[in-house]
Amino acid sequence: WFDVSAPWLTRVLERKPRRILKAVDGVSFSVPRGSTFAIVGESGCGKSTIARLAVGLHHPTRGEMNFAHGAGRDGRMRAQMIFQDPYACLNPRWRVKDIIAEPIHELGLRRGAAAVQARVTELLGLVGLARSDGEKYPHSFSGGQRQRISIARALATEPEFLVCDEPTSALDVSVQAQILNLMMDLQREFGLTYLLISHNLAVVRHASDQIAVMYLGRIVEQAPTEMLFRNPQHPYTRLLIDTIPDLEAPNRARQPLAGEVPSPIDPPSGCTFHPRCPYAQDICRQVSPPMAHDNDGRAIACHFPLTTARTSPLAGLAAV
Ligand code: SF4
Repeated sequence: WFDVSAPWLTRVLERKPRRILKAVDGVSFSVPRGSTFAIVGESGCGKSTIARLAVGLHHPTRGEMNFAHGAGRDGRMRAQMIFQDPYACLNPRWRVKDIIAEPIHELGLRRGAAAVQARVTELLGLVGLARSDGEKYPHSFSGGQRQRISIARALATEPEFLVCDEPTSALDVSVQAQILNLMMDLQREFGLTYLLISHNLAVVRHASDQIAVMYLGRIVEQAPTEMLFRNPQHPYTRLLIDTIPDLEAPNRARQPLAGEVPSPIDPPSGCTFHPRCPYAQDICRQVSPPMAHDNDGRAIACHFPLTTARTSPLAGLAAV
């Protein structure tokens, strides 16, 4: 298991020191080894902040993040990140073989040039590239091929935990499935554990085992993937799912997700989703709903989950 908890984290805006942005608030989740845990939500919900904190690219200016895990082979845990933009994360002046070899040298994972080259060739093969591709520069490759190079570089450190921040959103639709399937094949082969960050619900439904839905820095619903899609209980989850085109039921009644995410610098009182929630009542505007857990593995923060919402304007909509 990889346990991640961020009781509260804040990022102070430097130019306006009195205004504090609480980027992540009370987030806590566990990821079983060899599984994929997805975090979804609109832009500004805090999911990318968690991704970057998890691999040490960001450090909280206030608050703390706790990251517990079983010890790896050498007593350390190796976490790596696959970035959204494969065009920006590869050094254009380096040959692909040198990009992949760098972390191997840095961590001393192979000794001698021949052993490093053999490992680079092996990694290129794992992601579906040829040995000769190692001699080329990144500009020679398409977006999907560059993402394969990024994955090979991440695998070079022999990671246990991979944080994938929108790994397919910069790619053509036709290539997205290839990259997702490659990641899932590698997971099966090497027992990798993924934290998948995405705003694309179709992607996370295909690739994840558990999903956490975030809104304004907090998890509002968390459940096993199919449970969440078949029976969403938080109004925000339900409205997010309704934004996915459903080819099997194109005429099904859908409630639009109205409005925009409020500023995290001055969030709404009570439940921060209440200005956009069709089911908001007085208590929602005053009291932040606590997280409640059920016996089926679902956690939800809502005063009126949809199963109890007899008068909810969402209640008449069929389950997905
Ligand atoms: Fe809507 Fe109230 Fe639930 Fe918030 S607590 S999601 S406002 S019903």
